[in-house]
Amino acid sequence: MTRIFTIDPAQPESVGLRIAADALRRGELVAFPTETVYGLGANALDAAAVARIFQAKGRPANDPIIVHIQDLAQLYLVAEHPPMLALRLAEHFWPGALTLVVKRRPIIPATVSAGLDTVAVRMPSGSVIRALLKAAQIPIAAPSANTFSRPSATTAAHVLEDLDGKIEFLLDGGAAKMGLESTVLDLTGEVPAILRPGAVTLEALRVVIPNVTQKQRMIDTEDATPAPGMLIKHYSPRARVLLYTGSAGAVLERMQNDTQRYTHEGKRVGVLAIGDDVAHFAPLGAVTEVMGDERDLEGVGAKLFSSLRALDAQGVDVILVRALPRAGLGDAIYDRLLRAAEGQIIAVED
Ligand code: AMP
Ligand code: MG
Repeated sequence: MTRIFTIDPAQPESVGLRIAADALRRGELVAFPTETVYGLGANALDAAAVARIFQAKGRPANDPIIVHIQDLAQLYLVAEHPPMLALRLAEHFWPGALTLVVKRRPIIPATVSAGLDTVAVRMPSGSVIRALLKAAQIPIAAPSANTFSRPSATTAAHVLEDLDGKIEFLLDGGAAKMGLESTVLDLTGEVPAILRPGAVTLEALRVVIPNVTQKQRMIDTEDATPAPGMLIKHYSPRARVLLYTGSAGAVLERMQNDTQRYTHEGKRVGVLAIGDDVAHFAPLGAVTEVMGDERDLEGVGAKLFSSLRALDAQGVDVILVRALPRAGLGDAIYDRLLRAAEGQIIAVED
């Protein structure tokens, strides 16, 4: 049985929060909202508790988990000699959606980091997770609160869809504000490298660290061993996702043709639409979800995962989506869509 407590994000201190904090200390699992997505948390210092996260999610043991901390004192608890650069980045971006990969201290079980000698650390800004960290007084290991390879959970309902009965507690604090996961930045190499684009953009990082680089996240499933967390199939709904690139005009025309073709074949077609694009598909009988407007990438990011889940819930067989430009937050959005599409794009010529 999963017990649910409704938490007011404006005033998270409550009996429910206390009970959840005690449960975490005892080694139980608690899901909670953060400013990025919902997290599935366990005591980061307790190997047995962390093992239960992998089990509940069906997450492979080679995919490391982010450790959430309350303050800089906890950074020194979990990280071995964090570099000056970590402190500088913390000053600019913490609390917030930036995760730093640094050297791991042995107090953090190796299983948290999939056996690596590093640990990914983040000080979140969401009021519920912050109150939970404060009440529990332990670092909390937490991946996104979804079944492995499914779209990340951005509401309590999504968490229940995937994890009901598999975790002890769920704190329902409303929809996660950003809807996209944190940016993962590796500080253990020669130059800082983005391992996963996310809610903190490359452009924002460049202001503080001009030499930041971006690891190629696109990997071939045929490749030997994928780097941790870089599996190509990720964030996937049950329906097949088709991602189209090219000029808006040409892409929309192709998507309309494909909608008609799939419908003719007896398939139920879903379209993840950007703003006014929806007018092109509703008349064709497609099931549509509007993610927001092209000029408001924050809005698109916030609705991306919930829109994918909403289309799934309506039983569509395929989901058609037009890729947006990759500047700013567009890079994280493109990354999630590319993985939802299992690495395949349909490049449309003008
Ligand atoms: P999730 O918690 O579901 O958002 O996934 C966390 C992601 O953070 C993983 O899939 C990795 O991409 C990345 N990550 C976590 N820990 C490490 C680490 N020690 N080294 C490299 N990447 C990491
Ligand atoms: Mg995840």
